[in-house]
Amino acid sequence: MTTYSTVYVGLGSNQGHPIHQVKQALLTLDTLPCTHLETHSALYCGPPLGPQNQPDYINAVAILKTLLPPLALLYELQAIENKQGRVRQIQRWGPRTLDLDMLLYENKQLNTPLLTLPHPGLYKRAFVLFPLYDCVPNLVLPNEQRLSDLIQRFVVKELHKLNV
Ligand code: AMP
Repeated sequence: MTTYSTVYVGLGSNQGHPIHQVKQALLTLDTLPCTHLETHSALYCGPPLGPQNQPDYINAVAILKTLLPPLALLYELQAIENKQGRVRQIQRWGPRTLDLDMLLYENKQLNTPLLTLPHPGLYKRAFVLFPLYDCVPNLVLPNEQRLSDLIQRFVVKELHKLNV
């Protein structure tokens, strides 16, 4: 029997028509080899992380089912970022056409130079946790914390769910 792994991917964009960038990336995720897009959250709009002199971000979370191992999937995500015009910059948290973060790959914990799982920002970022909650409200995170408990800690007045 073929066993697919469940992967949560965070999407973000604040350049080049961000809503279009995120929607295009969702379509492309569904075309990856040995992978399909199971579902995705609504799109959210919120302020940038880090430098504030850049446009707001559009964020979403996608759930993938895949047969690809984690590193092969990371390379596929990076290829999508590159295809959508991502230019890697020196400035940390600078503007970007598309950012794809592997938030969770099953319950794997990894700490390698290329890939950290869960993604280091997962537990700290409202723009990741709220879309994730849209998709899987009963999720228990690898640190055994309930997602529903974790989001109680966040003030979300600056994060808006979009109707698009
Ligand atoms: P960023 O600038 O946020 O796109 O970071 C990209 C870098 O983070 C790449 O060099 C990846 O190898 C590395 N990275 C480590 N863990 C992850 C992860 N879980 N998801 C995506 N990129 C990761």
